Amino acid sequence: MSDKVIPILDQRSGQALPKLPAQMLPPTGLLADALGRPLRDLRISVTDRCNFRCSYCMPKQVFDKHYEFLPHSDLLSFEEITRLARVFVAHGVQKLRLTGGEPLLRRHIEALIEMLSEIRTPEGLPLDLTLTTNGSLLARKAASLKAAGLQRVTVSLDGLDDAVFQRMNDVGFPVAEVLAGIEAAQAAGLGPIKVNMVVKCGVNDQEILPMARHFRGSGVTLRFIEYMDVGATNGWRMDEVLPSSEVLARLREEFDLLPLSASVAGETAERWSYDSENAGGQGEIGLISSVTQAFCGDCNRARLSTEGKLYTCLFAHRGHDLRALLRSGASEAELSGAIGLLWGARADRYSQLRASGVSSLGDGERRVEMHYIGG
Ligand code: SF4
Repeated sequence: MSDKVIPILDQRSGQALPKLPAQMLPPTGLLADALGRPLRDLRISVTDRCNFRCSYCMPKQVFDKHYEFLPHSDLLSFEEITRLARVFVAHGVQKLRLTGGEPLLRRHIEALIEMLSEIRTPEGLPLDLTLTTNGSLLARKAASLKAAGLQRVTVSLDGLDDAVFQRMNDVGFPVAEVLAGIEAAQAAGLGPIKVNMVVKCGVNDQEILPMARHFRGSGVTLRFIEYMDVGATNGWRMDEVLPSSEVLARLREEFDLLPLSASVAGETAERWSYDSENAGGQGEIGLISSVTQAFCGDCNRARLSTEGKLYTCLFAHRGHDLRALLRSGASEAELSGAIGLLWGARADRYSQLRASGVSSLGDGERRVEMHYIGG
């Protein structure tokens, strides 16, 4: 296992102020980027802090006690997040995912969820309002999140064996508490619940079958994520990636699996059902293969960083400062115009290029850290 990590380069400052269009046109909800991809999914990072130090995201050697997290005054307020979310929804966003860092560390997050749950699409429909968490605080918060208007959660869990899981989260956090959080979320009705497991070859791949056995028939959808070269600090190496094709082969040694079609456009997971007969009783698994089977072709995801920068790709090296626009007194039309211009010019396809051996990074450019823009 590589323990080489790379010191962080602070990318959180010196970003360009978004341009405004010459003519302010009202949003149509049909915005498409330069590759014809619509804007459907907004991921909102509500904090850059986390109580875990997962080696593939926030390696402890870098994010140590000297690391300076963003001061609260830099974070977007709940009112600012909600105002921006309304503009994104007018442009076509139908799903909001709250992320971090660990979003449940953001105080009073239920108040934000209540504000976001009131937003409707131009057709008057409610949004798909979800949240990704490491589960550490879920047992305590599941009921209040549901009461505030959250619909469902995705929980990260990288193994059932305590020693393996603690090696991945690097803070000695026990599996039992995350499982208790998942149970509490089920009891609160925060479903369908998804569990994401990042597979790192030689570290936790032996947990693939135990995790599948545990969640099969539980109503929880388990997804296996290929270890990605996100950010610039996790020392990523291709030989630590276990291709999804290998994960599938291991699962098929024990389970009859049936392919399922995507449930929504732009879905990142390849879906498989446990039931070769009636497709559904025992639930399903998903494979998220950003490294070996890039899915940039229909990527409809935008990301808002903790202090209001728009990133148009998980592997982007720079963002666009919407907070500066917000705090400069910009009108809704100006915010909408700026977002329309930025998305319209978007041509990101990092994973596709990686797969063909091409780097979309220029000299000295480094990918933004995942804990800052959410996975
Ligand atoms: S690499 Fe970027 S463009 Fe491709 S799927 Fe991921 S976020 Fe979308």
